[in-house]
Amino acid sequence: MTVSPAVHHDHDHAACVADVLARAEACCGASGARLTPLRRRVLETLAQSHIPLGAYELVERLGESGERPPPMSVYRALDFLVAGGLAHRIESRNAFLACGRAHEADDVIVFLICEHCGLTDEVASHAIGRDIAWATRAAGFMPRTPVLEIAGTCARCRTPPASANG
Ligand SMILES: [Zn+2]
Ligand SMILES: [Zn+2]
Repeated sequence: MTVSPAVHHDHDHAACVADVLARAEACCGASGARLTPLRRRVLETLAQSHIPLGAYELVERLGESGERPPPMSVYRALDFLVAGGLAHRIESRNAFLACGRAHEADDVIVFLICEHCGLTDEVASHAIGRDIAWATRAAGFMPRTPVLEIAGTCARCRTPPASANG
């Protein structure tokens, strides 16, 4: 497994990956879509990184962990995952992030992007979602799932590393 040394993972990372894959299998089972081996591999590789991966980077990583798939197949797998809500596209980075949670239709997805280590987390806001729905409907506009991207400094980068003495 390739993990960027810039990120200090102190959580059970295998559990993140397992959650994402379990949810993907449940979603695909419910909708009748097929989580093909390549789609699964792409999602698993995305889930292994909390830093969004660009499509090209993803192709490279897939090549490191096994047979290197044709880039077009990877792009199509990404389209499938994004359309199914199993992964998100981070527009400002032109990169992709696996998603392990179910989003409510009216929620706004807020991406918290660390400018220092690249770590990207997501939170959902129902209150902002309601405000945006109200404002856009007043304008007769039909929004897609609204997304906000907020750049800043993540909790880990804000905290200096703990010393040996604690
Ligand atoms: Zn999500
Ligand atoms: Zn950070």
